[in-house]
Amino acid sequence: MTYQKTTVLEETLDPVDWTEAQAIGHQMIDFAVDRLRGVRDRPVWQEMPTAVRQFFDAPLPETPAPLHEIWSDLRTNLMPYPMGNIHPRFWMWYMGAGSFTGALGEFLAASEGSNLGGGNSAAGLMDQQVTGWIRTMMGFPEGSSGTLVDGGSMANIIGLTVARNAMAGIDVREQGVAAIQATLRYYASDQVHSCHQKALEMLGLGNRALVRVPTDASYRMDITALATAIAQDRAAGLKPACVIATAGTTNTGAIDDIAAIRDLCRREGLWFHVDGCIGALVKIAPRHKHLVSGIEDADSLALDLHKWLHAPFEAGCALVRDKARHRAAFAVHPEYLEGKPRGIAAADYLHDYNLQTSRGFRALKLWMLLREHGVEKFGRLIDQNIGQAHYLTGLIEAEPLMTLMAPTSVNIVSFRYDPGGLDESSLRSLNTEVMLRLQEAGIAALSDTTVHGRHCLRAAICNHRTRREDLDLLIAEAKRIGGEVHTKG
Ligand SMILES: *Cc1c(COP(=O)(O)O)cnc(C)c1O
Repeated sequence: MTYQKTTVLEETLDPVDWTEAQAIGHQMIDFAVDRLRGVRDRPVWQEMPTAVRQFFDAPLPETPAPLHEIWSDLRTNLMPYPMGNIHPRFWMWYMGAGSFTGALGEFLAASEGSNLGGGNSAAGLMDQQVTGWIRTMMGFPEGSSGTLVDGGSMANIIGLTVARNAMAGIDVREQGVAAIQATLRYYASDQVHSCHQKALEMLGLGNRALVRVPTDASYRMDITALATAIAQDRAAGLKPACVIATAGTTNTGAIDDIAAIRDLCRREGLWFHVDGCIGALVKIAPRHKHLVSGIEDADSLALDLHKWLHAPFEAGCALVRDKARHRAAFAVHPEYLEGKPRGIAAADYLHDYNLQTSRGFRALKLWMLLREHGVEKFGRLIDQNIGQAHYLTGLIEAEPLMTLMAPTSVNIVSFRYDPGGLDESSLRSLNTEVMLRLQEAGIAALSDTTVHGRHCLRAAICNHRTRREDLDLLIAEAKRIGGEVHTKG
């Protein structure tokens, strides 16, 4: 068969009408501006009506729909029902409040389109620049390495993997975990984030490799108990490998004694990892940075930029002190990914520091945020949130019907409504009801947890839109609803 030039109708995903697409793009920007500007006046959250739930049952579209119709459907069914974390009275779980510039960064990154797995592009240089900025923010030395990842869980996996490979005493990448002579042990406080359990399960070491060390009355790791656990494990023929210090626990915000853990790791020859997903960024806050001193000495550090830097999801970062070890844990070069002296492949492969191959251009939103505000302002905002958490703590302590349930270390306040005379289980149902009614009325979003066996409500103030008056309102409303539930049920 010979090649014949024929007329075929070739298709593309580009808009048929660019002018219309541009107009809708502008509408989306206008919508986003209005939404963020007016966010304070809307409910934190609202339940979705049945029609909205049913909208998401629609089957796979087989034929096209005009963009204006799609946008109209999204305005009706998607945009009014967010989680609520951009609202000034969202203090649930632990996450950032997002930012308009960050959203623009997401959009620009997607339209720029680069794959940050590697390649000789300006985006690649920006990725490295931002990683270097984060290293500077954390006080890590020149020559240490880092990688932007989707979030803290992945950042911890990166650190714990490098630790495993460094401490195993064999080539784990080649031989696998079964060949490790003695079982590796990792140590963390009993307040450690659940992602570490998942990480060790996935690393083939199993949940039992994660030793939960008891905490003191402030929910910080008991260093004496840590030393004892390490000694006992050595005596039992196990191989202590790594201590995970938590800089800001999810339950109460407690910051382990980082310097003491560092010193112990140095003495014992252990890998020193810090989970700084909540508190690492306290390092840039002028009034509180002493709380995390020693973090700059970590062998590996996980931090989250979609928390206190308010980058839109997803953005986390893993830093590793020893770049060669970091790279040795992940680098692999198949024949289809060889570097070249010139052209598009003439650059470091950024996926050599990471589990992903394709990587999004997360650096741009971070770069824009840091350029726009400067790191000092982020530091002040962190101080502001910590100040607000202590303000809330004061309101609770001054209120006879409220009990503070854990010391406020940084920005997480644990408390409960307690009218007196109720047992643990009644207090749990009463407070759960208060929390749910606050959410359902769109007033405020809190979460709950159980610390040292006692149920409590939890306000995690990682929010650049929160004002003290919001906290006044929280306490007034929690008290009002608590009274209603207690007397009327
Ligand atoms: C949030 C958090 C994580 C997990 O981070 P993600 O970004 O949600 O994956 C890990 N550790 C701590 C202490 C956290 O607060």
